[in-house]
Amino acid sequence: MKIGFIGLGIMGRPMAGHLVRAGHEVTGYDLSPVDFEGAFAGSVAEAVRDADVVITMLPADPQVEAVFPEISANARQDALYIDFSTITPQTAQKLAQQWKRTLDAPVSGGEKGAIDAVLSIMAGGSAADFAAAEPVFAAVGRTYRLVGGPGSGQYVKAANQLVVGGAYALLAEAIVLMEAAGVDAAAGLDVLAGGLAASRILDLKRTSMLARDFRPGFRIDLHHKDMGIVLDAARGAGVAVPMGALTAQLVAAARAQGYGGLDHSALLKVVEGLSR
Ligand code: NAD
Repeated sequence: MKIGFIGLGIMGRPMAGHLVRAGHEVTGYDLSPVDFEGAFAGSVAEAVRDADVVITMLPADPQVEAVFPEISANARQDALYIDFSTITPQTAQKLAQQWKRTLDAPVSGGEKGAIDAVLSIMAGGSAADFAAAEPVFAAVGRTYRLVGGPGSGQYVKAANQLVVGGAYALLAEAIVLMEAAGVDAAAGLDVLAGGLAASRILDLKRTSMLARDFRPGFRIDLHHKDMGIVLDAARGAGVAVPMGALTAQLVAAARAQGYGGLDHSALLKVVEGLSR
């Protein structure tokens, strides 16, 4: 397929590379020049012209809303539009009203999941468009499901970020507790990882968190954006998420304390600060 790929950052660049290796003809665009396996276009218009599939992987709602008019003005009317970005369900629904074939398809799995092509993808849209997008999803992900109509993918992503943020906060508290008590925290986390407390976050991040290595990965700024989406989505769905609200405040504190550019595991710095 011919694919126009807008947003070649931490996630988009490796994803676009996998699409090239899967045999697709990928033309990419980003505000800053990026070296990737496909062709780099001079504009959004140039990247999406003639494309069968148009993809965006941009930071947040404002960037997606800024790029969309240039997509809709230049893409083929029958092109499939897949937005992999994490944005609000409301914006995703608005885009679906403006473009016939739209899937909101946010991802989970982090930079490593993008590099290893094992992302989890939660898609909202029609069954026919989901089926048409399967070759794309198969090239960048391992688990992909249609979870409902337009915006549904973003609701599932909000649920995902609720769990991920909360897990980081609790892991940070576990580290602070063990270190303060003078026990071997590394050995302690090995044991947690082998029992009921096991998690993917514990597997991937326990060594770097103990070493206070907070290079992103997924930036606190983006998780702050996502916790806003979580609270907004919960309000829209008419439910209370008290643990989510608490996590959102810890993430907000991390950002306020100047850690916005660090990995979201830097929640540890905030939790440490509470007991210093
Ligand atoms: P990023 O900031 O590394 O990449 C975004 C890219 O979009 C940047 O290269 C930027 O230059 C480009 N961009 C911004 N505005 C643009 C415009 N108007 N036109 C063209 N390009 C533009 O962010 P990322 O980490 O790749 O995240 C992208 C999305 O994926 C976000 O919504 C994020 O929440 C989500 N996400 C990220 C991760 C992760 O671990 N990094 C995991 C899951 C989901």
